[in-house]
Amino acid sequence: MKIEIAIVEDEPRLASVLQDYLERDNYSVTIWSDGSDALEAFREEVPDLILLDLMLPGTDGLSICKELRKTSNVPIIMLTARVEEIDRLLGLEIGADDYICKPYSPREVVARVKAVLRRTLPGHDQTGTEQLDSKMIINEESATVSVEGQSTSLTAVELKLLMALYQSPGRIYSREQLMKKIYDDNRIVSDRTIDSHVKKLRQKIEQLNPALEFIHSVYGLGYKYEPL
Ligand code: CA
Repeated sequence: MKIEIAIVEDEPRLASVLQDYLERDNYSVTIWSDGSDALEAFREEVPDLILLDLMLPGTDGLSICKELRKTSNVPIIMLTARVEEIDRLLGLEIGADDYICKPYSPREVVARVKAVLRRTLPGHDQTGTEQLDSKMIINEESATVSVEGQSTSLTAVELKLLMALYQSPGRIYSREQLMKKIYDDNRIVSDRTIDSHVKKLRQKIEQLNPALEFIHSVYGLGYKYEPL
């Protein structure tokens, strides 16, 4: 029996990225974009875990959580857009099992899902952990990236670039935003500098497996990372 995870999230792209990651780890995933629809459905059938966005059309995440807690101990992980919100939610003691702030890395979310399930669902094993994003693994300590077991080393700038893109899959970063992520000192570098760093980075990853493309340029806008 697959573990059922419900994602209540009104941003379709975020929801589908999480779905991809969770399904790759063998979870069964249902997505709800409207809070009231989700609550209605949970009254009929409670999933094994709920990833619950705070701001939602229909019923908001806070109300859903409170409502569910009247009748159920289903593990709930709240997703919020602001880190200050987490403090407020903790203070309200709404009974969520964990809180994750956006932007998050989908890998982090999967790890937190596993951690919560280990606590709350006896006998939950970790099958599929190896599958987790196995196409690309970034090792920050050694500044290396591996694709399907082959690895290459990155410069500090390339590592920062890759981490920035990787942590928000699908999000388009302008060159200026990437510059800010890479350099702490507000130095002025040209767009071409960013382009050449990205080019180097893509070449390095391409050498590992030419068939896999992770970093995409978006004409006129910038760059994004798409998980495979
Ligand atoms: Ca939202």
